[in-house]
Amino acid sequence: MAEEMDAKFRSPEAYELARLALEQLESQRVWPTPVNYELWSHIIAEPSGPLALELERLRLAGEPVTDDLAERLASIYLPKGRLSEQIRDTGQALSRELASAEQAIRTAQESSESFSTRLEETSRTLESDPSGPALQGVVADLTDATKQMQAQNASVERALAASTSEVAMLREQLEEIRKEAATDPLTRLANRRAFDEAIERIRTEAIETGDFFCLVLLDIDHFKKFNDTWGHQTGDQVLRYVAGVIRKRATPPRFAARFGGEEFAIILPRENLFETTPLVERILRDVSAANIRRRSTNDNLGVITLSAGIAGYRAGDTVHGLIERADASLYMAKRRGRNRFVVESED
Ligand code: GH3
Ligand code: MG
Ligand code: MG
Repeated sequence: MAEEMDAKFRSPEAYELARLALEQLESQRVWPTPVNYELWSHIIAEPSGPLALELERLRLAGEPVTDDLAERLASIYLPKGRLSEQIRDTGQALSRELASAEQAIRTAQESSESFSTRLEETSRTLESDPSGPALQGVVADLTDATKQMQAQNASVERALAASTSEVAMLREQLEEIRKEAATDPLTRLANRRAFDEAIERIRTEAIETGDFFCLVLLDIDHFKKFNDTWGHQTGDQVLRYVAGVIRKRATPPRFAARFGGEEFAIILPRENLFETTPLVERILRDVSAANIRRRSTNDNLGVITLSAGIAGYRAGDTVHGLIERADASLYMAKRRGRNRFVVESED
């Protein structure tokens, strides 16, 4: 999908997209800031994508597109492009550091070469005239050369030490970017991309070891109504709250992620359906037992409930097939009245 979109931005259609984006910004009275322009370009390239739907929803709700909102949407829906900018900057800094370390090493080599040239010259002088005064001159010359060499070495050492610590810092920065790229900014759980990677990795391990694993999909009940009643911001607070309960219960090696809007996923490596159900029961109970209050006004928001579907890996399963079965179970849980889980039937 990203490649498809990239191709669109680099084709003759690109000018048309840009013109449309500006037109829409103007007609919707949204400032053409770089972030808004980026958001609207994506909407035009993908008019029924998740970003377009979310913006349409916000527009209908009459929410103005503030800088804060635009940044938040960009961080959720355009994470790749924005992160790649940071990655590029860090990459450039890293290569500058490597170049300066290389230069320091080259200087060290040159100074040691010039030192040996001077040693050779001196030894030739001594061979041709080994008398006292000549010897004195030679000693003075060598002392001078040695001092110069020491000074140069010290400055090279300093340059290398500075480079080393700079490179260590950049490496930390890259690690930070890597983590950020795998994290959902709202809930701080793993994001969908990280989930896709994890489930593929766990499936491959299961094939190699012959182990079992389970997948749970959880979905907040009647969340649309909740948003309509209490507003999107309070909805976000609930998403963070539910994510917190899931994070607390589904600790590693279990893998918890935000699967989509108000849906979460947990992968349980080396656990079967019987081992998985108590965890799901516990999460549903924890969430529904809490009396959630709105942070800003202390209003009682009532009870939040989740429904969940559980499916277990079967030999030959694709990730897609497993997700579909967990989703079908989740759908059953909704149909049977919500605030419950359903384990896939063995058939
Ligand atoms: P059901 O019990 O059948 O799951 O009903 P539902 O209303 O929860 O399901 P539906 O799929 O109709 O609506 C999901 C809602 O979740 C709509 C959308 O506004 C909301 N949502 C999705 N992502 C976010 C988000 O990041 N923040 C907030 N506040 N709401 C979100
Ligand atoms: Mg849903
Ligand atoms: Mg829901």
